[in-house]
Amino acid sequence: MEEDIFNSLVLALSDVDYRFVNANANIQRLLELYSNTASGLRLPPPAAKHIIENLPDVTITEEAQCIICLKNFSVGDTAKKLPCNHLYDKECIVQWLEKTNTCPMCRFEMETDDEEYEKERKEKLRAKQREAELEILHASMYS
Ligand SMILES: [Zn+2]
Ligand SMILES: [Zn+2]
Repeated sequence: MEEDIFNSLVLALSDVDYRFVNANANIQRLLELYSNTASGLRLPPPAAKHIIENLPDVTITEEAQCIICLKNFSVGDTAKKLPCNHLYDKECIVQWLEKTNTCPMCRFEMETDDEEYEKERKEKLRAKQREAELEILHASMYS
């Protein structure tokens, strides 16, 4: 369901002729749309500096697109890969993560330098882990 929000953001962006809009303008627009859509939710803080600095480079091997500037990558191009496996141009994703820690495609939340936010984020992660552990336990009990 959360993915739907982002899909609609991407659709909204497709009104624009990207070739004439720079990535920075797209980021502004996406962030605005995101804050409007997620009304009541505050925009998550920027990603941690060390995360932004250490994003791994990958070589593109199959069709992919940077959804921030909507540029199509060619096989052999270099892109930045987030932990959720989504690919972006370096310039686009660095600018984005300096504003908010969430993957524009799937809202995967990356580590931040914000202590308060980290408490919440880790609590959410632990809850997810517990759920997964319970599922495994269930599966082993009833199989
Ligand atoms: Zn891009
Ligand atoms: Zn993602």
